[in-house]
Amino acid sequence: MGTGTSSGVPMIACECEVCRSTDPRDNRLRSSILVESATTSLVVDTTPDFRYQMLRARVMKLDGIVFTHPHKDHIAGLDDVRAYNYFSKQPMQIFANEMTQMNIIREFPYAFAESKYPGVPEIHINPIDLEPFELGDISIIPILVWHMRMPVLGFRFGDFTYITDANRIDAAEMDKIRGSSHLVLNALRHEKHISHFTLAEAIEIVQELQVPNAWFTHISHQLGLHKEIDASLPAGIHLAYDGLKLHL
Ligand SMILES: [Zn+2]
Ligand SMILES: [Zn+2]
Repeated sequence: MGTGTSSGVPMIACECEVCRSTDPRDNRLRSSILVESATTSLVVDTTPDFRYQMLRARVMKLDGIVFTHPHKDHIAGLDDVRAYNYFSKQPMQIFANEMTQMNIIREFPYAFAESKYPGVPEIHINPIDLEPFELGDISIIPILVWHMRMPVLGFRFGDFTYITDANRIDAAEMDKIRGSSHLVLNALRHEKHISHFTLAEAIEIVQELQVPNAWFTHISHQLGLHKEIDASLPAGIHLAYDGLKLHL
């Protein structure tokens, strides 16, 4: 899992205590997760760090990619599915709503050209909306959340729910999360933000939903040191970190 940033992205020369920290949990790539069952592996989003994240986690097989929304920090790494095409000899199955599909086709037009240059990524788009769908033996329930005015998809996989890039969730969609044993939710920083939950807002959502195990992601360096913030959180709530594994 990556637990990276959006606004408040650390500059190369950032001298803040988080960017200078030697705790590996303060050292983040952009937000994405790998979901694995007995037979199926998928990732949610292809960040600009996708290639390195897949190498780092030694992901040899990937059956599909599910997209939350088309912001660059969630789609930019898609070109690097070429390595999986090469080994599987199959197009990569991607699952995206209409808005995200349009942006992917615009950002990677060469992958969808009539006559393709050899070696371009092979991608097959599977349209999704809010209807549940399956990828291999993994059942997926999309959840609509709001990222300022942009509709973003969260996903529920059994008792595990993943939501990134939200600052508002309608009551009916909150009901889809309820009953999850584990929730990953975005919490950017302390200060109010136009399109992301703050730490306090994320805690409030978890407490309202009464999810017993929650992990916060899409964290800015402005949030503070992992060790200090994590220790300050209510029982059952933690900051996620790169490489975190949850077994359900
Ligand atoms: Zn976003
Ligand atoms: Zn983002």
